[in-house]
Amino acid sequence: MKTVEQHIRDVLDLVEPLEPIELDLLRAHGGVLAEAVSSAVSLPQFDNSSMDGYAVAADDLAGASAQEPVRLPVVADIPAGDVAATAVRRGHCARIMTGAPLPRGADAVVPVEWTDGGLATVAVDRPVQPGNAIRRVGEDVEKGTTVLRPGVRLGAGELAVAAAVGRGTVPVHPRPRVVVLSTGAELVEPGSPIGPGQIWESNSYMLTAAALDAGCSAVRRGFVGDDPATVLETVEDVLVQADIVLTTGGVSMGAYDVVKEVLSRLGTVSFDKVAMQPGMPQGAGTVGESATPILTLPGNPVSSYVSFQLFVRPVLRRLRGLAPDPLPAVHARLTAPVPHSPKGRRSYLRAVLEYDGSAGPTPYTAQPATRQGSHQLSALAEANALVVVPEAVTELEEGSVVEVLRLPEAF
Ligand code: AMP
Ligand code: MG
Repeated sequence: MKTVEQHIRDVLDLVEPLEPIELDLLRAHGGVLAEAVSSAVSLPQFDNSSMDGYAVAADDLAGASAQEPVRLPVVADIPAGDVAATAVRRGHCARIMTGAPLPRGADAVVPVEWTDGGLATVAVDRPVQPGNAIRRVGEDVEKGTTVLRPGVRLGAGELAVAAAVGRGTVPVHPRPRVVVLSTGAELVEPGSPIGPGQIWESNSYMLTAAALDAGCSAVRRGFVGDDPATVLETVEDVLVQADIVLTTGGVSMGAYDVVKEVLSRLGTVSFDKVAMQPGMPQGAGTVGESATPILTLPGNPVSSYVSFQLFVRPVLRRLRGLAPDPLPAVHARLTAPVPHSPKGRRSYLRAVLEYDGSAGPTPYTAQPATRQGSHQLSALAEANALVVVPEAVTELEEGSVVEVLRLPEAF
């Protein structure tokens, strides 16, 4: 049997970051920046007002007070976007709006709140410091500086910065296109009636959602039965739309393990037993002329889910141009014993991780789910973590401190 670490290395070897492409900003959303973005200009590009008010020479208001306001004639109105190069002579002022260029001759802006709001002349009831309410050239971004580093994920803030420095497009590793296909003659579409011996299909929904949550553009191809020709045809059919294909089912030791049967013949996919529970049977390789990576996950829903978190997620991260980090880990105290764990295989138990802030070895507790069978899906909905039970450990007492992997939050 192969170790978990070895299988992680093997699946990571199958992929490279996707080739960067230049994308419009909103198409780039969720992509990973491939090259630094620097600013060709300073921001702000011109001195401008940070408030609605009056552009003045500060000296003119030296004696202003509530008792004896200073009155200044208003010689111009300067809205944001105004291009007429207004100048203000001593003893005069201009009404100015937030973001409007500061007129020559002015060295301060008096907020409208300090005045009577006059249009022809304005009364100001206090003095103003030079530079008040003025945004200076370059105080946000200096011309030529890097504003976004390669490897950054383009979310709301990053897109705002790119747009603000004038970029209409950016070079990104695009979101990987993940195609999810399940196999199994017993599967029925949820929402449809079910017959004897059948089950509603869930893996492809779970994996498609997990891939979307992992920042990919995922497509659910649904499921096919256990007929080799159909499985092969469907896999070949999805290759054009996939940067990676995920399948579930048909990779164990059974007589109808169709994925294994079909892909073994293609030669580049190898099937292994990984020393873990759940999730022992794993396959990985490439298919088709395009050498598209394919990971064939086990059919048991919990096995499939754990396989995604341990193996698929780092692969998707690498495709995205991110470091293939594993799930973040913390230590936690078990709130219940683990009565048995298979010797020689690493167990991943669905659990609820909580922060209780207590002093001592760790401020976290982990409550393992009571239903740990690889078919027992119900515990997945509540679980937010996986308790790791090492290969050599066969039981754990309540209160033991264990390594716990945090599952990604959905949104
Ligand atoms: P297999 O790996 O194909 O032998 O499947 C192992 C177990 O997982 C069987 O009990 C299947 O019925 C179940 N299973 C396989 N594929 C799915 C699926 N897509 N959705 C839900 N259960 C599945
Ligand atoms: Mg099957």
